[in-house]
Amino acid sequence: MPTSLCVYPGSFDPVTLGHIDLIERAAKLFPNLVVAVLNNPDKQGTFTTERRLAMLAKACAHLSNVKIDSFGGLLVDYMRKAGAGIVLRGLRAVTDFENEFQMAQVNRQIAPEIETLFLMTSPDYAYISSSAVRQIASFGGDVSTLVPACILEDVYQAYR
Ligand code: ADP
Repeated sequence: MPTSLCVYPGSFDPVTLGHIDLIERAAKLFPNLVVAVLNNPDKQGTFTTERRLAMLAKACAHLSNVKIDSFGGLLVDYMRKAGAGIVLRGLRAVTDFENEFQMAQVNRQIAPEIETLFLMTSPDYAYISSSAVRQIASFGGDVSTLVPACILEDVYQAYR
C-alpha cells in the first residue's frame, strides 16, 4: 500500500543549495522525507557515498522530519521496501525535463503504485548543479554561493 512517505533520490555529489531548497520545501509538504543517495558501483562519483551522506546529514540537521539514507539497485525496490509511495525530483530548465520524464515513465511502468512528483527550482538556485560545484572547486574557485556553508570545507578538502 503506497504511503505519504516521500523519497528524494539523487547523486548529491555534492549536495547544493538547490537541493537544500527543494528538501526544505518538501519537508513542509510531507510528514516525513527521506533523502536517498544512489550508491552506483558503475558510476563512482567525486565524493564517496559515505561523504555524501555525511554532508547531507550536516546540511539537513535543522530539519527534524528529514532522514538521510543510501540505496543501491532499483529505486522502486528501495521504495517498496521502505513503504514509500512518492518520489520527489526537481526541475530546473527544460534540459532536465527529458531525462526526468523518461525516468518517471519507466518507474511508472514497473511500479504503477508509486507517483513521481516534481518541484520547480526556485529562480535563485536554477543555475546550481553539483557538476558546476565540482568544476569550480577543482580549479580552486569560490563555491560559497552554491553549497551550504556547513559543507564548504568538505568540498574544498576534496580538491586539496
Ligand atoms: P541525479 O544524478 O539523480 O540527477 P542530482 O543530485 O544531480 O542527482 O539531482 C537530484 C534531483 O535534484 C534531480 O531531480 C535534479 O533535477 C534536482 N536538482 C538538482 N539541482 C537542482 C536545483 N538547483 N534546483 C532544483 N532541482 C535540482
